[in-house]
Amino acid sequence: MLIYFVITSSYNPGCLHCHTTEKNNRNTPLFDNVVKSFIEVLKQTDAYTQKSNGFTFVFHVGELLPVKEESILRVCETIKENMPDVKVKFLLQMPLTLINESVITLIKDCFDGSVNIPFDQEIRQTNISYPRFKFLWEKNVKYLREKGIHVTVNVALVGDTGRCISRFRSVVTYLKSLGIRDIHIEKFFLQGEFEKSKTLYIKDSEYFTFMNYLLDWYIEYLINWYRGRKTREDVIIINPLVQMLYLARFNRGASCFAGDCMRNILTLDCNGNVYPCPAFLFSERKVSFGNVLKNNAEEILSNPKRVQLIIEQALLGCDGCEYVSFCHQGCPKQPFEITDRTVCRKFFKKLIDYSKRYKHIVDCLLGTF
Ligand code: SF4
Ligand code: SF4
Repeated sequence: MLIYFVITSSYNPGCLHCHTTEKNNRNTPLFDNVVKSFIEVLKQTDAYTQKSNGFTFVFHVGELLPVKEESILRVCETIKENMPDVKVKFLLQMPLTLINESVITLIKDCFDGSVNIPFDQEIRQTNISYPRFKFLWEKNVKYLREKGIHVTVNVALVGDTGRCISRFRSVVTYLKSLGIRDIHIEKFFLQGEFEKSKTLYIKDSEYFTFMNYLLDWYIEYLINWYRGRKTREDVIIINPLVQMLYLARFNRGASCFAGDCMRNILTLDCNGNVYPCPAFLFSERKVSFGNVLKNNAEEILSNPKRVQLIIEQALLGCDGCEYVSFCHQGCPKQPFEITDRTVCRKFFKKLIDYSKRYKHIVDCLLGTF
Protein backbone atom coordinates (compact mmCIF):
# COMPACT_ATOMS: atom_id res chain seq x y z
CA MET A 1 0.00 0.00 0.00
CA LEU A 2 1.22 3.46 -0.91
CA ILE A 3 0.92 6.17 1.72
CA TYR A 4 1.62 9.83 1.04
CA PHE A 5 2.55 12.13 3.89
CA VAL A 6 2.08 15.80 3.20
CA ILE A 7 4.48 16.72 5.91
CA THR A 8 3.94 20.45 5.67
CA SER A 9 1.76 22.58 3.47
CA SER A 10 4.22 25.42 3.32
CA TYR A 11 6.28 25.55 0.13
CA ASN A 12 8.78 28.03 -1.17
CA PRO A 13 8.93 28.26 -4.94
CA GLY A 14 5.20 28.50 -5.83
CA CYS A 15 5.37 26.47 -9.04
CA LEU A 16 2.62 26.69 -11.62
CA HIS A 17 1.16 23.28 -10.90
CA CYS A 18 1.37 23.50 -7.11
CA HIS A 19 -1.86 22.79 -5.23
CA THR A 20 -0.90 25.09 -2.39
CA THR A 21 -0.50 28.25 -4.44
CA GLU A 22 -4.26 28.44 -4.85
CA LYS A 23 -4.94 28.28 -1.11
CA ASN A 24 -3.39 29.42 2.11
CA ASN A 25 0.04 28.12 2.89
CA ARG A 26 -0.40 26.58 6.32
CA ASN A 27 2.92 26.26 8.00
CA THR A 28 1.88 23.16 9.94
CA PRO A 29 4.28 20.27 10.27
CA LEU A 30 3.12 16.69 10.71
CA PHE A 31 2.96 15.92 14.42
CA ASP A 32 3.58 12.66 16.28
CA ASN A 33 0.02 12.37 17.59
CA VAL A 34 -1.34 12.64 14.03
CA VAL A 35 1.06 9.94 12.82
CA LYS A 36 0.24 7.60 15.71
CA SER A 37 -3.50 7.96 15.15
CA PHE A 38 -3.02 7.35 11.43
CA ILE A 39 -1.06 4.16 12.15
CA GLU A 40 -4.13 2.87 14.04
CA VAL A 41 -6.12 3.43 10.83
CA LEU A 42 -3.52 1.64 8.70
CA LYS A 43 -3.61 -1.34 11.06
CA GLN A 44 -7.21 -1.94 10.01
CA THR A 45 -6.44 -2.05 6.27
CA ASP A 46 -6.31 -5.37 4.37
CA ALA A 47 -2.68 -4.63 3.49
CA TYR A 48 -1.84 -4.68 7.21
CA THR A 49 -4.04 -7.53 8.41
CA GLN A 50 -3.04 -9.76 5.49
CA LYS A 51 0.58 -8.64 5.69
CA SER A 52 0.62 -8.55 1.90
CA ASN A 53 2.99 -6.22 0.08
CA GLY A 54 3.97 -3.94 2.93
CA PHE A 55 3.73 -0.17 3.07
CA THR A 56 5.64 2.49 1.21
CA PHE A 57 5.51 5.90 2.86
CA VAL A 58 6.19 8.80 0.53
CA PHE A 59 7.18 12.01 2.28
CA HIS A 60 6.04 14.91 0.17
CA VAL A 61 7.92 17.63 1.97
CA GLY A 62 8.23 20.71 -0.20
CA GLU A 63 11.26 22.50 1.10
CA LEU A 64 12.61 21.05 4.31
CA LEU A 65 12.94 24.53 5.75
CA PRO A 66 9.71 24.63 7.76
CA VAL A 67 10.23 21.07 9.01
CA LYS A 68 13.27 20.10 10.98
CA GLU A 69 15.05 16.99 9.77
CA GLU A 70 14.64 15.51 13.29
CA SER A 71 10.85 15.67 12.89
CA ILE A 72 11.00 13.50 9.78
CA LEU A 73 13.39 11.12 11.49
CA ARG A 74 10.98 10.86 14.43
CA VAL A 75 8.02 10.11 12.14
CA CYS A 76 10.00 7.27 10.49
CA GLU A 77 10.97 5.85 13.88
CA THR A 78 7.39 6.05 15.15
CA ILE A 79 6.22 4.07 12.11
CA LYS A 80 8.88 1.40 12.49
CA GLU A 81 8.18 1.03 16.23
CA ASN A 82 4.40 0.86 15.80
CA MET A 83 4.21 -1.27 12.66
CA PRO A 84 6.71 -4.02 13.49
CA ASP A 85 4.84 -6.83 11.70
CA VAL A 86 4.93 -5.42 8.17
CA LYS A 87 7.58 -4.34 5.71
CA VAL A 88 7.87 -0.55 5.61
CA LYS A 89 9.81 1.58 3.17
CA PHE A 90 10.29 5.35 3.09
CA LEU A 91 10.64 7.59 0.04
CA LEU A 92 11.45 11.28 0.04
CA GLN A 93 10.20 13.75 -2.58
CA MET A 94 11.66 17.25 -2.43
CA PRO A 95 12.27 20.13 -4.85
CA LEU A 96 16.07 20.24 -4.49
CA THR A 97 16.62 23.91 -4.05
CA LEU A 98 17.97 23.61 -0.51
CA ILE A 99 20.38 20.82 0.15
CA ASN A 100 23.02 20.54 2.82
CA GLU A 101 24.88 18.01 4.98
CA SER A 102 21.99 17.46 7.40
CA VAL A 103 19.62 16.70 4.50
CA ILE A 104 22.18 14.20 3.15
CA THR A 105 22.34 12.56 6.59
CA LEU A 106 18.54 12.39 6.74
CA ILE A 107 18.35 10.81 3.27
CA LYS A 108 20.96 8.23 4.28
CA ASP A 109 19.47 7.48 7.70
CA CYS A 110 15.77 7.31 6.80
CA PHE A 111 15.41 6.89 3.05
CA ASP A 112 17.96 4.20 2.17
CA GLY A 113 20.09 6.86 0.53
CA SER A 114 17.47 7.67 -2.15
CA VAL A 115 15.55 10.81 -3.05
CA ASN A 116 12.98 11.85 -5.70
CA ILE A 117 13.43 15.29 -7.18
CA PRO A 118 11.44 17.14 -9.86
CA PHE A 119 12.59 18.19 -13.30
CA ASP A 120 9.89 20.61 -14.38
CA GLN A 121 11.63 23.26 -16.36
CA GLU A 122 8.56 24.89 -17.87
CA ILE A 123 6.55 25.23 -14.68
CA ARG A 124 9.18 25.80 -12.00
CA GLN A 125 8.90 29.23 -10.43
CA THR A 126 11.84 30.71 -8.64
CA ASN A 127 12.98 34.16 -7.70
CA ILE A 128 16.13 33.68 -9.77
CA SER A 129 16.57 33.38 -13.54
CA TYR A 130 16.01 29.95 -15.12
CA PRO A 131 19.68 29.52 -16.24
CA ARG A 132 20.79 30.25 -12.66
CA PHE A 133 18.21 27.79 -11.31
CA LYS A 134 19.36 25.11 -13.80
CA PHE A 135 22.97 25.68 -12.77
CA LEU A 136 22.02 25.19 -9.08
CA TRP A 137 19.83 22.17 -9.90
CA GLU A 138 22.70 20.43 -11.73
CA LYS A 139 25.13 21.38 -8.98
CA ASN A 140 22.81 19.85 -6.37
CA VAL A 141 22.28 16.67 -8.41
CA LYS A 142 26.05 16.25 -8.76
CA TYR A 143 26.49 16.92 -5.04
CA LEU A 144 23.88 14.30 -4.13
CA ARG A 145 25.55 11.76 -6.41
CA GLU A 146 28.99 12.55 -5.03
CA LYS A 147 27.58 11.81 -1.58
CA GLY A 148 26.37 8.42 -2.82
CA ILE A 149 22.67 9.34 -2.95
CA HIS A 150 20.48 7.53 -5.47
CA VAL A 151 18.44 10.12 -7.36
CA THR A 152 15.10 9.50 -9.09
CA VAL A 153 13.93 12.41 -11.24
CA ASN A 154 10.24 13.18 -11.70
CA VAL A 155 9.84 14.68 -15.17
CA ALA A 156 6.80 16.89 -15.67
CA LEU A 157 4.89 16.02 -18.83
CA VAL A 158 4.09 19.57 -19.81
CA GLY A 159 4.35 21.44 -23.11
CA ASP A 160 6.71 19.86 -25.66
CA THR A 161 8.13 17.42 -23.08
CA GLY A 162 4.72 15.68 -22.99
CA ARG A 163 3.94 16.00 -26.68
CA CYS A 164 7.12 15.38 -28.59
CA ILE A 165 8.94 12.10 -28.11
CA SER A 166 12.26 13.43 -29.46
CA ARG A 167 12.10 16.30 -26.98
CA PHE A 168 11.43 13.77 -24.18
CA ARG A 169 14.32 11.61 -25.37
CA SER A 170 16.62 14.61 -25.20
CA VAL A 171 15.55 15.05 -21.55
CA VAL A 172 16.39 11.37 -20.92
CA THR A 173 19.80 11.84 -22.60
CA TYR A 174 20.46 14.93 -20.46
CA LEU A 175 19.50 13.11 -17.24
CA LYS A 176 21.59 10.12 -18.26
CA SER A 177 24.58 12.46 -18.68
CA LEU A 178 24.14 13.37 -15.01
CA GLY A 179 24.10 9.68 -14.07
CA ILE A 180 20.32 9.50 -13.55
CA ARG A 181 18.83 6.06 -14.31
CA ASP A 182 15.44 6.33 -12.63
CA ILE A 183 12.87 8.58 -14.24
CA HIS A 184 9.26 9.06 -13.23
CA ILE A 185 6.96 10.91 -15.61
CA GLU A 186 4.14 12.99 -14.16
CA LYS A 187 1.01 14.26 -15.84
CA PHE A 188 -0.54 17.31 -14.20
CA PHE A 189 -4.11 18.37 -13.64
CA LEU A 190 -5.72 21.56 -14.74
CA GLN A 191 -5.92 23.05 -11.27
CA GLY A 192 -4.35 25.75 -9.17
CA GLU A 193 -2.04 28.12 -10.99
CA PHE A 194 -1.70 25.59 -13.79
CA GLU A 195 -5.21 26.58 -14.97
CA LYS A 196 -3.59 29.71 -16.36
CA SER A 197 -1.09 27.70 -18.43
CA LYS A 198 -3.40 25.78 -20.71
CA THR A 199 -0.85 25.58 -23.54
CA LEU A 200 1.44 23.60 -21.25
CA TYR A 201 -1.32 21.20 -20.16
CA ILE A 202 -1.25 17.77 -21.79
CA LYS A 203 -4.75 16.64 -22.68
CA ASP A 204 -5.68 13.00 -22.12
CA SER A 205 -5.70 12.20 -25.84
CA GLU A 206 -2.24 13.81 -26.17
CA TYR A 207 -1.08 11.84 -23.13
CA PHE A 208 -2.07 8.49 -24.63
CA THR A 209 -0.65 9.38 -28.04
CA PHE A 210 2.61 10.27 -26.30
CA MET A 211 2.51 7.09 -24.16
CA ASN A 212 2.03 4.98 -27.30
CA TYR A 213 5.21 6.43 -28.83
CA LEU A 214 7.04 6.25 -25.54
CA LEU A 215 6.16 2.58 -25.07
CA ASP A 216 7.46 1.70 -28.56
CA TRP A 217 10.68 3.56 -27.96
CA TYR A 218 11.15 2.13 -24.46
CA ILE A 219 10.56 -1.48 -25.54
CA GLU A 220 13.10 -1.05 -28.35
CA TYR A 221 15.51 0.38 -25.80
CA LEU A 222 14.88 -2.60 -23.45
CA ILE A 223 15.43 -5.12 -26.25
CA ASN A 224 18.82 -3.54 -26.96
CA TRP A 225 19.63 -3.45 -23.26
CA TYR A 226 18.74 -7.14 -22.90
CA ARG A 227 20.74 -8.13 -25.99
CA GLY A 228 23.72 -6.21 -24.66
CA ARG A 229 23.53 -8.41 -21.56
CA LYS A 230 23.93 -5.37 -19.38
CA THR A 231 23.06 -5.34 -15.71
CA ARG A 232 19.94 -4.08 -13.96
CA GLU A 233 22.08 -1.24 -12.64
CA ASP A 234 22.61 -0.05 -16.23
CA VAL A 235 19.01 0.11 -17.32
CA ILE A 236 16.98 3.30 -17.48
CA ILE A 237 13.74 2.78 -15.56
CA ILE A 238 10.81 4.87 -16.74
CA ASN A 239 7.80 4.83 -14.46
CA PRO A 240 4.84 4.48 -14.52
CA LEU A 241 5.65 2.51 -17.72
CA VAL A 242 7.51 -0.17 -15.78
CA GLN A 243 4.71 -0.28 -13.18
CA MET A 244 2.23 -0.67 -16.03
CA LEU A 245 4.27 -3.51 -17.55
CA TYR A 246 4.21 -5.16 -14.12
CA LEU A 247 0.43 -4.74 -14.03
CA ALA A 248 0.06 -6.23 -17.48
CA ARG A 249 2.45 -9.10 -16.76
CA PHE A 250 1.07 -10.13 -13.37
CA ASN A 251 -2.43 -8.70 -13.52
CA ARG A 252 -1.97 -6.96 -10.21
CA GLY A 253 -0.45 -3.82 -8.81
CA ALA A 254 -1.27 -0.16 -9.01
CA SER A 255 0.10 2.85 -10.72
CA CYS A 256 -0.94 6.39 -11.32
CA PHE A 257 -3.16 6.72 -14.40
CA ALA A 258 -3.52 2.97 -14.65
CA GLY A 259 -4.50 0.61 -11.91
CA ASP A 260 -6.57 0.34 -8.82
CA CYS A 261 -5.23 3.36 -6.98
CA MET A 262 -8.32 4.02 -4.87
CA ARG A 263 -7.84 0.86 -2.81
CA ASN A 264 -4.07 1.10 -2.71
CA ILE A 265 -3.29 4.71 -1.90
CA LEU A 266 -4.02 6.96 1.09
CA THR A 267 -2.73 10.44 1.86
CA LEU A 268 -2.32 11.98 5.28
CA ASP A 269 -2.33 15.75 5.34
CA CYS A 270 -0.36 17.39 8.15
CA ASN A 271 -3.62 18.51 9.80
CA GLY A 272 -4.80 14.89 10.16
CA ASN A 273 -7.18 14.77 7.19
CA VAL A 274 -7.06 11.59 5.12
CA TYR A 275 -7.44 11.74 1.34
CA PRO A 276 -7.30 9.21 -1.49
CA CYS A 277 -4.19 10.61 -3.16
CA PRO A 278 -2.36 13.95 -2.97
CA ALA A 279 -4.15 15.11 -6.13
CA PHE A 280 -7.32 15.49 -4.05
CA LEU A 281 -5.79 17.91 -1.56
CA PHE A 282 -6.76 21.50 -2.14
CA SER A 283 -8.71 20.50 -5.23
CA GLU A 284 -12.20 21.64 -6.07
CA ARG A 285 -13.29 18.04 -5.49
CA LYS A 286 -12.59 17.95 -1.76
CA VAL A 287 -12.65 14.34 -0.75
CA SER A 288 -11.49 13.91 2.80
CA PHE A 289 -12.36 10.56 4.35
CA GLY A 290 -12.21 12.05 7.84
CA ASN A 291 -9.60 13.20 10.30
CA VAL A 292 -7.44 10.79 12.30
CA LEU A 293 -7.81 12.96 15.42
CA LYS A 294 -11.61 12.86 15.26
CA ASN A 295 -12.62 9.70 13.42
CA ASN A 296 -11.80 6.05 14.06
CA ALA A 297 -10.36 3.62 11.50
CA GLU A 298 -13.75 2.18 10.56
CA GLU A 299 -15.20 5.64 9.92
CA ILE A 300 -12.25 6.60 7.72
CA LEU A 301 -11.75 3.40 5.73
CA SER A 302 -15.47 2.80 5.21
CA ASN A 303 -16.25 6.46 4.64
CA PRO A 304 -19.00 6.56 1.96
CA LYS A 305 -16.84 8.89 -0.15
CA ARG A 306 -14.06 6.29 -0.22
CA VAL A 307 -16.46 3.46 -1.01
CA GLN A 308 -18.01 5.58 -3.76
CA LEU A 309 -14.64 6.39 -5.31
CA ILE A 310 -13.65 2.70 -5.31
CA ILE A 311 -16.95 1.78 -6.97
CA GLU A 312 -16.65 4.64 -9.47
CA GLN A 313 -13.17 3.63 -10.42
CA ALA A 314 -14.24 0.03 -10.90
CA LEU A 315 -17.55 0.46 -12.64
CA LEU A 316 -18.43 3.72 -14.30
CA GLY A 317 -18.07 4.44 -18.02
CA CYS A 318 -15.85 2.69 -20.52
CA ASP A 319 -18.55 0.06 -21.00
CA GLY A 320 -17.35 -3.17 -22.47
CA CYS A 321 -13.69 -2.19 -22.57
CA GLU A 322 -11.54 -5.28 -22.12
CA TYR A 323 -8.76 -3.24 -20.52
CA VAL A 324 -10.79 -1.86 -17.64
CA SER A 325 -9.09 -4.17 -15.12
CA PHE A 326 -5.72 -2.60 -16.04
CA CYS A 327 -6.75 0.94 -16.61
CA HIS A 328 -9.62 1.41 -14.13
CA GLN A 329 -10.61 4.24 -16.45
CA GLY A 330 -7.64 6.29 -15.43
CA CYS A 331 -7.67 8.89 -12.74
CA PRO A 332 -10.73 9.32 -10.52
CA LYS A 333 -9.57 12.81 -9.60
CA GLN A 334 -9.97 14.11 -13.10
CA PRO A 335 -11.76 11.54 -15.26
CA PHE A 336 -10.59 11.21 -18.85
CA GLU A 337 -11.85 13.73 -21.30
CA ILE A 338 -11.25 11.46 -24.26
CA THR A 339 -14.18 11.20 -26.62
CA ASP A 340 -12.39 8.80 -28.95
CA ARG A 341 -11.42 5.92 -26.67
CA THR A 342 -9.45 4.10 -29.36
CA VAL A 343 -6.24 5.92 -28.40
CA CYS A 344 -6.27 4.63 -24.80
CA ARG A 345 -7.35 1.13 -25.85
CA LYS A 346 -4.55 1.01 -28.40
CA PHE A 347 -2.06 1.83 -25.65
CA PHE A 348 -3.29 -0.89 -23.27
CA LYS A 349 -3.51 -3.48 -26.06
CA LYS A 350 0.08 -2.71 -27.00
CA LEU A 351 1.17 -2.81 -23.36
CA ILE A 352 -0.32 -6.27 -22.85
CA ASP A 353 1.04 -7.56 -26.18
CA TYR A 354 4.53 -6.35 -25.33
CA SER A 355 4.40 -7.74 -21.80
CA LYS A 356 3.60 -11.17 -23.27
CA ARG A 357 5.95 -11.09 -26.25
CA TYR A 358 8.88 -9.80 -24.22
CA LYS A 359 8.07 -11.38 -20.88
CA HIS A 360 11.65 -12.62 -20.51
CA ILE A 361 12.85 -9.01 -20.78
CA VAL A 362 10.15 -7.68 -18.46
CA ASP A 363 11.02 -10.38 -15.89
CA CYS A 364 14.69 -9.50 -16.19
CA LEU A 365 13.87 -5.82 -15.78
CA LEU A 366 11.73 -6.45 -12.71
CA GLY A 367 14.21 -8.90 -11.26
CA THR A 368 11.50 -11.52 -10.95
CA PHE A 369 13.07 -14.33 -12.95
S1 SF4 B 1 -6.25 9.48 -8.10
FE1 SF4 B 1 -5.34 10.00 -10.06
S2 SF4 B 1 -3.44 11.06 -9.56
FE2 SF4 B 1 -4.10 9.95 -7.74
S3 SF4 B 1 -3.03 7.98 -7.83
FE3 SF4 B 1 -5.06 7.71 -8.74
S4 SF4 B 1 -4.67 8.00 -10.93
FE4 SF4 B 1 -2.93 8.89 -9.86
S1 SF4 C 1 -11.85 2.80 -22.79
FE1 SF4 C 1 -9.82 3.66 -22.39
S2 SF4 C 1 -10.05 4.73 -20.44
FE2 SF4 C 1 -11.77 3.30 -20.59
S3 SF4 C 1 -11.06 1.42 -19.56
FE3 SF4 C 1 -10.64 1.23 -21.74
S4 SF4 C 1 -8.53 1.86 -21.97
FE4 SF4 C 1 -9.26 2.66 -20.01
